[in-house]
Amino acid sequence: MARPSVVIVGGGIAGLSAAWELTGGANGPDENSPRVEVIEASDHLGGALVTTSFAGRTIDLGADGFLARRPEAVTLVRELGLEDQLEAINASGASIWLNGALDVLPEGLVLGFPAYSKTLKSMRGLSWRAKLAARRDEWMPRRLSVGNDATIGTIARTKLGRELTYQFIEPLIGGIQAGRIDDLSARSVFPPLLDAARKGGSLMKAMRPSGPVNPGPAAQTVTSGPAFYSLLGGVGSLPVELARHLHERGVVLRTGVGVSAVRRTPSGIYPWEVDTPTTSTLANAVIFATPAPVVAKLVGDIDPNLERLRAIPSAGAAMVSFNLARSEITLPEKGTGVLVPLGTHWSGEGTMMVTAVTFLDRKWPRLTREHDVVLRAHVGRIDDDRWAAMSDDELTSRVTSELEQLLPRFGTVLEAKVQRWPAGLPQYYLGHDEMVASAKASAATLRIALAGSAYDGVGIPASIGSGRRAAREVLAQLRD
Ligand SMILES: Cc1cc2nc3c(=O)[nH]c(=O)nc-3n(C[C@H](O)[C@H](O)[C@H](O)COP(=O)(O)OP(=O)(O)OC[C@H]3O[C@@H](n4cnc5c(N)ncnc54)[C@H](O)[C@@H]3O)c2cc1C
Repeated sequence: MARPSVVIVGGGIAGLSAAWELTGGANGPDENSPRVEVIEASDHLGGALVTTSFAGRTIDLGADGFLARRPEAVTLVRELGLEDQLEAINASGASIWLNGALDVLPEGLVLGFPAYSKTLKSMRGLSWRAKLAARRDEWMPRRLSVGNDATIGTIARTKLGRELTYQFIEPLIGGIQAGRIDDLSARSVFPPLLDAARKGGSLMKAMRPSGPVNPGPAAQTVTSGPAFYSLLGGVGSLPVELARHLHERGVVLRTGVGVSAVRRTPSGIYPWEVDTPTTSTLANAVIFATPAPVVAKLVGDIDPNLERLRAIPSAGAAMVSFNLARSEITLPEKGTGVLVPLGTHWSGEGTMMVTAVTFLDRKWPRLTREHDVVLRAHVGRIDDDRWAAMSDDELTSRVTSELEQLLPRFGTVLEAKVQRWPAGLPQYYLGHDEMVASAKASAATLRIALAGSAYDGVGIPASIGSGRRAAREVLAQLRD
């Protein structure tokens, strides 16, 4: 019998990881491995993982590191023989802009959450009321009954009050997701918080290390603890290397062409036909590794559970990278960056657009030079797309002005680069887990599988894990 054929729609890290698993993973393909074709709409493989040349260095324009504590990314790096390329993060800690000045984030945060009121004492930008609210949680915790799920905002606000929630927790937890904690599901984004809230007493005490251990997707917000890794060629070199291996394995990799339709055929052998504007490929199974609404668009009419995926929104963001002579900039003494709470007043007009600043060359030793520095500003949230209406020059000039306010000194810029991510970060709202479980169940009956950051957690390790899981599901279906 001919080898089965699997088409993967979407060539981000999830789609490429699915192709790796379909072709035998670390062991490589054998005579039973399917023929695999990856179809990617953009002109590059890797999705949100992409590097560029900037200021004499190779920098990442999207994701720039991955959590070492989760195994999926490190395992893939090892399987690709890239272990000697792993680069550990060089610094920890960060500052936060509070009430018109920079404050150093305290140590002892648990997954980005304050767990001891005493660690907040030294923060000049927090009012005595906020500090008292934290103490109160330790000694006279507020009551909150959480059932199956609650938003991160509801839990934090009820237990710790508004100021800590919106000035401290929102920039840490919401910022990394480019979302609003008032909408994000604790169960789907930050399971340890839901577990801690369910205990009923002090939230901070329940969050301490003896408490829940499952880090969940929000583990990527940690400011202390296990290190992050990058690669010496940038995180964007991971999909490049992966694609090279896949090509050697005979996987067909097509870029610059989007899938326009996925149709059921009457044939029992090839139940699917995958169309691009120029081709049609028959497939025994299809893996969708695109944003969730694309799945709804392509196959939503076949099953209502797949149509419901249209409701998973994604936040857009823009990254503005800067290069300055070292003599032109003064940074906070320590730490890898600055966080900016929502609604922070801008000295121009209105509120700041910058949500965070990353000092790239403090994070990654390969980027450090004697005479100049590289940093990048993060802009955009699910409810703030002001950046989308600005030209690159306008955005650079606006962000420059905000950095002049946020950093002790921000002088003449040598080089700047804007990278836009129109819909890069899926938002997990209440009911997300149930929606995804039903969609996966429906998919399994149709010989399709769902992979990517819309389903099993946002971030590189989760997306790799998701792609490999989807591939294993398809392999099992093909064996049946
Ligand atoms: C700006 C930014 C910074 C981030 N920083 C970090 C970080 O530092 N660490 C971390 O762990 N995670 C980070 N993340 C998250 C992480 O990058 C993502 O979770 C992960 O890369 C998602 O991979 P994916 O393959 O699921 O999706 P994507 O990378 O979005 O890939 C999906 C692919 O599907 C393609 N596609 C869409 N429609 C079609 C179609 N019709 N036909 C064919 N192809 C199609 C798209 O072009 C895209 O390439 C960041 C994300 C962004 C956007």
